[in-house]
Amino acid sequence: MIHPSILSLTAGLLFLAPLHLQGQRPSIATAYRAVADSLIQAATADSAAYARVGVLVDRFGHRLAGSRSLEAAIDWVLAEMKKDGLQKVRGEPVSVTHWERGQEWAELVRPRRQRLAMLGLGGSVATPVAGITAPVLVVASFEELVRRRAEAKGKIVLFDAPFTTYGETRRYRTDGPSAAARAGAVACLIRSVASESIRSPHTGRTRYDSTVARIPAAALSVEDAMMLHRMQDRGEPVVVTLRMSARQLPNARSRNVVAELVGREKPEEVVVLGGHIDSWDVGQGAMDDAGGSVAAWEAVRLMKQLGLRPRRTVRVVLWTNEENGLRGANAYRDRHRDQLVNHILAMESDAGTFKPTGFGFTGSDSAFAIMQQIGTLLERIEAGQIVRGGGGADIGPIMALGVPGMGLNVDGTRYFWYHHTEADTIDKLDPREMALCTAAMAVMAYVVAEMPERLPRATTP
Ligand SMILES: [Zn+2]
Repeated sequence: MIHPSILSLTAGLLFLAPLHLQGQRPSIATAYRAVADSLIQAATADSAAYARVGVLVDRFGHRLAGSRSLEAAIDWVLAEMKKDGLQKVRGEPVSVTHWERGQEWAELVRPRRQRLAMLGLGGSVATPVAGITAPVLVVASFEELVRRRAEAKGKIVLFDAPFTTYGETRRYRTDGPSAAARAGAVACLIRSVASESIRSPHTGRTRYDSTVARIPAAALSVEDAMMLHRMQDRGEPVVVTLRMSARQLPNARSRNVVAELVGREKPEEVVVLGGHIDSWDVGQGAMDDAGGSVAAWEAVRLMKQLGLRPRRTVRVVLWTNEENGLRGANAYRDRHRDQLVNHILAMESDAGTFKPTGFGFTGSDSAFAIMQQIGTLLERIEAGQIVRGGGGADIGPIMALGVPGMGLNVDGTRYFWYHHTEADTIDKLDPREMALCTAAMAVMAYVVAEMPERLPRATTP
């Protein structure tokens, strides 16, 4: 169905045509104001995007790579995309990591018995069946571990590092276990990577260094990590039992979800937008990243609904296995390597779907200037701030090969309260904010796909 606002939009574009012919090209803000407004209007007219996230996460639950729920969710998305009338809807095969958490628990044994709030880290090895019971050495940093290396042997090392930024603090999750193993530890615990806590542990991928032993690794809630630290500071001996039955299975089959609006003039030139369809195996993966996936998907659906068919192809991609392998991102790069020269822009939403503020862009100065102009079309929803530097894990591999990239920026105040926990559920999202994220992605993708010139790259490929 043609949206009513399309009528005035068409009139607006016809009115502008003579300017083009005279070589007096109107500014982006002038040329695309009407169509941008129609996309914003359509995105914010209802709660369709939020409702779609709701079906995705309530019906299928969390979506860890290798799980049946991930593949069932992908089947559903593909079927819905076909119903939406999107083109070239397909699942591109990806071989993914298959890790299972199994049963796990941790218990404080001394100075008193108490169950600890824990989550194993993704990729962790198991403990022996009887578990590991050992004294704990609490350190606040890698530097403290180096200083106290002599005390670590045979112990469980707990990194109780306060949250600063995600990028900085998550090093304890990725690199902590191998640092602890290098010091002779038998297992590793970390304080959850969280900016606030209500005693929920946060999982996430760890990374073993191949030169040292792989030791079991888990996150404790912030509260529990701090308590063990206080006990140690008082000179009380701290002993913990850790039991985990995690296992790494052979690779599994998954798919990147891909759908398009094929460009009307330059179908080979592609604007990619997306998020990742997989999640951790706790909560619903609603913020991370069902919301981002659906915002990108809905952005393309709205173009279709409004009868818009831009000059270039707009392609939504929901990557698989971002969380514990990045296999979908790498498979996309490999499969489309020959076409990357014609990837005009890649855009990702994977920082939560809260109130959008704009985009972070990585590309040439001249492209940045164009992005800032497009940003003015989003000022009416306060989402027009274009800053330098941005991208996303899933578009990282193609950005490394020269594709300009950008990430949707949102108010991230609450993101690391819930990130990778049982509490990453849809009730943390807001229908209006979800609609605004959709609108921002729709306007940005549409204008870049429609404007007469290709977005310039730093160097001509
Ligand atoms: Zn994510």
